[in-house]
Amino acid sequence: MKNKKTVLFIANWKTNPKNNKEAVLLFKNLDRELKSLKHKMIICPPSIFIPSLSSIKTNTIQLGLQNTAVEDMGAYTGQISLEQSISFKIKYTLIGHSEVRMIGDTDDVVSTKIKYAIKKKIVPIVCVGENQRDDKHEYFKFIENQIVKAFSGISKKDMSGIIIAYEPLWAIGKNALRDATPLEFVEIKIFIQKILKDTFGLSGSLLPKILYGGSVNEKNASDFIHQGEADGLLIGRTSLDAKKMITLIKTI
Ligand code: 13P
Repeated sequence: MKNKKTVLFIANWKTNPKNNKEAVLLFKNLDRELKSLKHKMIICPPSIFIPSLSSIKTNTIQLGLQNTAVEDMGAYTGQISLEQSISFKIKYTLIGHSEVRMIGDTDDVVSTKIKYAIKKKIVPIVCVGENQRDDKHEYFKFIENQIVKAFSGISKKDMSGIIIAYEPLWAIGKNALRDATPLEFVEIKIFIQKILKDTFGLSGSLLPKILYGGSVNEKNASDFIHQGEADGLLIGRTSLDAKKMITLIKTI
């Protein structure tokens, strides 16, 4: 049971909601409910809403980027750097989300972004996950490659501060093939911990937190935490509905 552990709830709003007014409303509704629950969460909104959201006083919500450029300034059209975000109270950044990998981020780029985030003292939330599950279990090798490439050249101490999110692509979004099961998650969590131990010598309290993401909702969240032993959840669609999001937190 995770009773004594702090469960991390991270919302990835992707390209939602429709406008700044709705983003502020959603943020304020979540903040109000979180206050009465005495719980915290992290929200990664579209960057264009960050100036408004970061001006709202809150003790319950911290902000993260959905992606970052690889350095403070330069020729990176459409990308925002951590340096530019720091004055907007950004504490986290997603790195290597499958939807960003799909438009070009390679494992090398992911690795560079992780090192950049560490340098800027921003917590990287590194997403890994396979496109599909094959009978020969090649997906284990795929995940191993993502992890080994992403974390090469990072010190043990820095690695322990990273958050890893396992997000199998086949379980993400409204076109998901099916939901992943808590058992499938726990198997991957153990596998990732084994890679971190065998390749990087990480164990015990140095092991990073490992989260689950992909079609998490108020019905399956508790199972991923309690049966799946996830250290937290990375939540897309459900985080866009304050009521559902709060119900989800309450179930845990
Ligand atoms: P959904 O929860 O909408 O499936 O999205 C998951 C995700 O990609 C979070 O980063």
